[in-house]
Amino acid sequence: MCGIVGYVGPKDCSDVLVSALTKLEYRGYDSAGIAVFGKNGIETVKTKGKLKNLVDKMAVEGKPEGHVGIGHTRWATHGGVTDQNAHPHQQGKVTLVHNGIIENYRELIADYDLQEILHSETDSEVAAALLNHYYKGDPKEAIKKTVSKLKGTFELVILFEDQPDG
Ligand code: GLU
Repeated sequence: MCGIVGYVGPKDCSDVLVSALTKLEYRGYDSAGIAVFGKNGIETVKTKGKLKNLVDKMAVEGKPEGHVGIGHTRWATHGGVTDQNAHPHQQGKVTLVHNGIIENYRELIADYDLQEILHSETDSEVAAALLNHYYKGDPKEAIKKTVSKLKGTFELVILFEDQPDG
């Protein structure tokens, strides 16, 4: 069982996201990550292991600064416990976190010819690729089309690169 959070507001987003994920730690997880709308677009930091690893990584690499963001603690179901498989996942203009299982992800990879563009082994990244495929400027339309193709259980929190207000 993972944790999934989103934030839009006046506070420093990275701290809010990490604090929210900390409250969900009791659910169990194997990796953690956040993505934040920063000055230079969407910045993602993610790592396998505990939230402390994520905080340590941000201390070294820099903490994304912004007021809109998403966060995730992962309980791996598809793909090993690796930095690359940790969420958020980015495809084109879409960055997302996912809780659950997309049962038909293999069929979708074949139907939409996605194999070459995927960076992870997760079912979740397939949802990101599909959203990016359908995204033509209207988030709701893309979400509606994508969700109609997904089978399984899923909650998604999504950032679109050109929708900086969340
Ligand atoms: N199925 C996804 C994965 O393996 C999400 C798992 C979760 O709910 O944390 O990355």
